[in-house]
Amino acid sequence: MDIETLARDVAAGDRRALARAITLIESRRADHRSDAVALLEALRRDGRQALRIGLSGTPGVGKSSFIEAFGLMLTEQGLRVAVLAVDPSSARSGGSILGDKTRMERLSREPRAFIRPSPAQSQLGGVARRTREAVALCEAAGFDVVLVETVGVGQSETVVAEMTDLFVLLLAPAGGDELQGVKRGIMEIADLILVNKADRELKAAATRTCADYAGALRLLRKRPQDPEGFPKALTVSAHEGTGLVAAWEEMQALARWRREAGHFDRRRAEQASEWFAAEVREGLLARLASEPGMRARMEEMTRKVRAGEATPEGAAARLLDEF
Ligand code: GDP
Repeated sequence: MDIETLARDVAAGDRRALARAITLIESRRADHRSDAVALLEALRRDGRQALRIGLSGTPGVGKSSFIEAFGLMLTEQGLRVAVLAVDPSSARSGGSILGDKTRMERLSREPRAFIRPSPAQSQLGGVARRTREAVALCEAAGFDVVLVETVGVGQSETVVAEMTDLFVLLLAPAGGDELQGVKRGIMEIADLILVNKADRELKAAATRTCADYAGALRLLRKRPQDPEGFPKALTVSAHEGTGLVAAWEEMQALARWRREAGHFDRRRAEQASEWFAAEVREGLLARLASEPGMRARMEEMTRKVRAGEATPEGAAARLLDEF
């Protein structure tokens, strides 16, 4: 594959080249992998920066409706929007949250938008790596906003928060006064809570839910990366399009503040160093396992550790010495 040409086409914003580039980084073939690494290196010289937004919410809160309405609002402002997904359930169900062709139909027809379904992989770690690289490709392709969507299960929110600049939690109006079982950990990584479906007969409930969450957010410890008033809770309606402009203004205000205060670059630098460490860790393990005889030695040592014939520490030290 001609990586130079592909890099040039991606940098020119060609969506088909971008799609091909993402297919390349998703491939597990060793030769594809080295091409993918070369491509990412060729593109990083560019230094373009998109606003990376993580978006999470349980199925049914209106993520696709929101992304469609929000994405269209952004493209109408002349901005280019990419939508990626981290979907830990896709491996199990065989489908993916963005795989359904009917989702975001209008946005997908918009020339300034790019939508990519979640890669079908069994491990969240694998999906995270591909998505992180896809984010970098979208950024190099000149997208102004990269939205990374995830369903609210397990650890996927943390994974998405670790590859984005700000994190938005989408909720639906609650019936009673319970806080919808939103885990504290998710509240702590949210920069903005959007209570969707604030329309028609759900409007009053949405307003109430929003006030409850605003109260809960005020009780959280103040984080250094937050200006006054953040994290914030707002109501939106994906169907009626209300609150979307306000939500975008809040996101921009937060990003601007963090840029000026140095938090933005610091967070990206931390993310980059984390990914480097993860790549080294995974690469070392892969090399260890591919070394002739090493896999068998590992299995043998595992058996000994299990049987109590060796300590985990001693066995690991011996294995690494042999390597
Ligand atoms: P997702 O599973 O989070 O992607 O949610 P969807 O976007 O598929 O929406 C789930 C359901 O909520 C659908 O029946 C939508 O029509 C409905 N819905 C989404 N957004 C709104 C909204 O702003 N107002 C109302 N009333 N319903 C909405």
